[in-house]
Amino acid sequence: MQQSPELPTLAEAVTCEVVHPGESGYETLRRVWNADIDQHPIAIVRCAGAADAAAALTWCVDNGVPVTVRGGGHNLAGTAVADGSVLIDTGLMRKVTINTQTHTLTVGGGCRWGDVDRAAEPYNVALPAGVVSHTGVAGLTLGGGVGYLSRMFGSTVDFLREVEMVTADGVVRRISAENEPDLFWALKGAGHNFGIATEFVFDYVDLPGLATVRLALYPSEDRKDILRLFRDRGPSMPDNVGTYVRLYRSPDYWSQLPREHRGKPIISVATVTYGNPAEEPALSASLFEVGSPIYESVRTIPHVTLQHATDDEFRYGISHYWRHMAFRELPDEIFDTILRFVDAYPGRSLNSSSFITHQTMCPFELIAGKLTPRDHSNDSTTGIHSHWAGNIGADWEYADERPELVAWVKSFASAISEWENGTYINFTSERSDAGGSRKIYGSKYDRLVEVKTKYDPTNVFAHGLVDLELDAAGDSWAGE
Ligand SMILES: Cc1cc2nc3c(=O)[nH]c(=O)nc-3n(C[C@H](O)[C@H](O)[C@H](O)COP(=O)(O)OP(=O)(O)OC[C@H]3O[C@@H](n4cnc5c(N)ncnc54)[C@H](O)[C@@H]3O)c2cc1C
Repeated sequence: MQQSPELPTLAEAVTCEVVHPGESGYETLRRVWNADIDQHPIAIVRCAGAADAAAALTWCVDNGVPVTVRGGGHNLAGTAVADGSVLIDTGLMRKVTINTQTHTLTVGGGCRWGDVDRAAEPYNVALPAGVVSHTGVAGLTLGGGVGYLSRMFGSTVDFLREVEMVTADGVVRRISAENEPDLFWALKGAGHNFGIATEFVFDYVDLPGLATVRLALYPSEDRKDILRLFRDRGPSMPDNVGTYVRLYRSPDYWSQLPREHRGKPIISVATVTYGNPAEEPALSASLFEVGSPIYESVRTIPHVTLQHATDDEFRYGISHYWRHMAFRELPDEIFDTILRFVDAYPGRSLNSSSFITHQTMCPFELIAGKLTPRDHSNDSTTGIHSHWAGNIGADWEYADERPELVAWVKSFASAISEWENGTYINFTSERSDAGGSRKIYGSKYDRLVEVKTKYDPTNVFAHGLVDLELDAAGDSWAGE
């Protein structure tokens, strides 16, 4: 742990609270969602607004002290916090206002998605965004953003109208398609390395009715048939039907399951259908046509309830290492490998309750996208178009479990890598170096470097999710 002699000056440079190592609150504030991240910043600046963020940043730049920026703290790789840096925390900026004339939501830079969902609900509107309410608006939006409503409406960045951001020169800018269009483009998908976002303005959508969540669990012997069905039908399901498959071992204590299936490998199929609940059975039916379910449930709930439904399972205090991959195809062969690795998962079930929900932390998850590619020509998202995306996930509580689990994720990913079609930057457990970033952003990488060079020529924001090499050269890989 380092202590800088200049720190009293930092506290004087801002009007908000600055927390140092050893002071009350430091241990809580330095922590992020992934308990595997254990970094010690030299100070945490709890900014109340853009002026504090600008003052803190200017102090850091003048004193040559590295900075990190924190929103909701959910990034798997823990890029919001680093040893020896000043952490600029936007977590106090939690205001959400709605303007029904302009159809916009104005959202503080430190908001979590639950803040937005709860503010929007009384107006029967929403934003397509993350599915766990304590995920940060900032990090998710700046990386693209997807959620239950995305299949119908698109990514979070499709609704982004304006960002208030403190850039490396300490200037507070209002960035939009009209004002600083290049920077706006970069922020929509690769925005973690350009400044401190203190406010977002989003267009919103009218809520498409209640959400009906249908879940069925099937025994091990049905897994391959179900995976094939999911592969073949998932992408062509209607836009208002989200589709999820998960492979895991059922916890021993899931007493809702017949005794012989507890503690055994199972597969779950879930759909989330928006709209009239009476129409749901016909809309989702084709995904439940094979196999003999050992558990079934159907619940119709408001969107805001759905957004909070799995908060508990994805709770704070657990360590994680995940590897997200989109797939260009899913031949039967890949299913054999996936099942082999899932059955060899060396971890334990860390679900928090005995209630079976549609979403659990699990070794492998598959989501079907839709057939029509999303238009990504006006943003810096990776533009991956795949009909399926998967996540390999290892979760643990005690540090000595880590090596085996991380090794398992890596060898699993490597065994199915020939079918990979890129990754979603927001789900990476390892920060990308310049070579990796070039691969991830493909044909958009060079323009990102140009924008970075213009707005942050000395790489003040060096700790974001990717490394943008200021003098980039080399081959590009579009990942499409
Ligand atoms: C349980 C869980 C569920 C998730 N669900 C979804 C989902 O449904 N959909 C989806 O798209 N993604 C999802 N994600 C991924 C999520 O989008 C990323 O983890 C994202 O980085 C989280 O943003 P954050 O603000 O919480 O994180 P942080 O760790 O605070 O920040 C992430 C990155 O953004 C930068 N950053 C944060 N705040 C700011 C700011 N105000 N200004 C500038 N830069 C900033 C940080 O420096 C860091 O590099 C989920 C993640 C978890 C752990």
